[in-house]
Amino acid sequence: MKRKTLHLLPVLIATLCWAGSLIAHATDTIERNEKQDRKANTPITTQRRDNWETRQTEKQETLQMANKSTGQMENREEQQGSNKKVQQTENREAIKLARALRRKGINDARVLAAVEKVPRHLFIDEKLSPYAYDDRPLPIERGQTISQPFTVAYQTQLLKLQPGEKVLEIGTGSGYQAAILCEMDVEVYSIERYHQLYQTAKETLNKLGYHPNLYHGDGFKGLPEHAPFDKILLTAAPEEVPEKLLQQLKVGGWLVGPLGGRMGQKMTKIERVGEEKFRKTLHGDFIFVPMQKGTEK
Ligand code: SAH
Repeated sequence: MKRKTLHLLPVLIATLCWAGSLIAHATDTIERNEKQDRKANTPITTQRRDNWETRQTEKQETLQMANKSTGQMENREEQQGSNKKVQQTENREAIKLARALRRKGINDARVLAAVEKVPRHLFIDEKLSPYAYDDRPLPIERGQTISQPFTVAYQTQLLKLQPGEKVLEIGTGSGYQAAILCEMDVEVYSIERYHQLYQTAKETLNKLGYHPNLYHGDGFKGLPEHAPFDKILLTAAPEEVPEKLLQQLKVGGWLVGPLGGRMGQKMTKIERVGEEKFRKTLHGDFIFVPMQKGTEK
């Protein structure tokens, strides 16, 4: 018996070694396969992370931009953990502005909601950001102004816009009023005589996701190729209402704008009640920059 076992021992050892090497090989193969799988997944994982990192960087940049312009939250650590806070702070300023406008007599809920939404500080020079949500006009390039928020809201309210209506604005300026119009769910057309302002407004609006139809041109001529319009809004003051614009109104539509000289104007609403019949009403005293003929760079 013992001898037999002794004979079998080398065979047993050989068998054990063979089985061992088989297991080792199998494990190695599994590991290698896993490694390969991991390798195969690497680009996807990295891509995802890269995207995520890009998003984080973008968020951070937006944040820094917002902080720069509002002059708030200078501490970087504070910024990092509180994207939301900035968002809320931004909104809070616009909400406060809308509340102030309501106290001053603006009662159209849709207009107030638009004021709450549009970030006015992005339509002006960074240096003026501390005043972005004050109810006052501010200078923009080429000696022009972004209208006082009350005036923007007041004129928009007078337009009584219905969703889907076609609206023409004369004097794009900063683009702020155009953004408010976009928030009212209407089809917006806007003309600016200074190419520089047209360009800047276009960039600002598009960055924010607004895509009105913008034109560099002379507002006195209107946009006959896109007429008739339901409503026309003048944000610069002509001495008298431009006849060509009245002709681009739909019957039943109206124009709202300040009419008068440099010393002051009357906010005027002119309704086209028939093909050649217009009805005029006055809505208070204002001071706007003058509407000027022609175009400039
Ligand atoms: N709606 C603007 C207000 C800008 S002030 C805003 O929200 O910022 C009025 C603008 O009308 C100025 O930019 C001025 O250049 C422009 N303007 C004056 N005369 C014009 C004309 N004939 N055609 C087009 N734009 C004109």
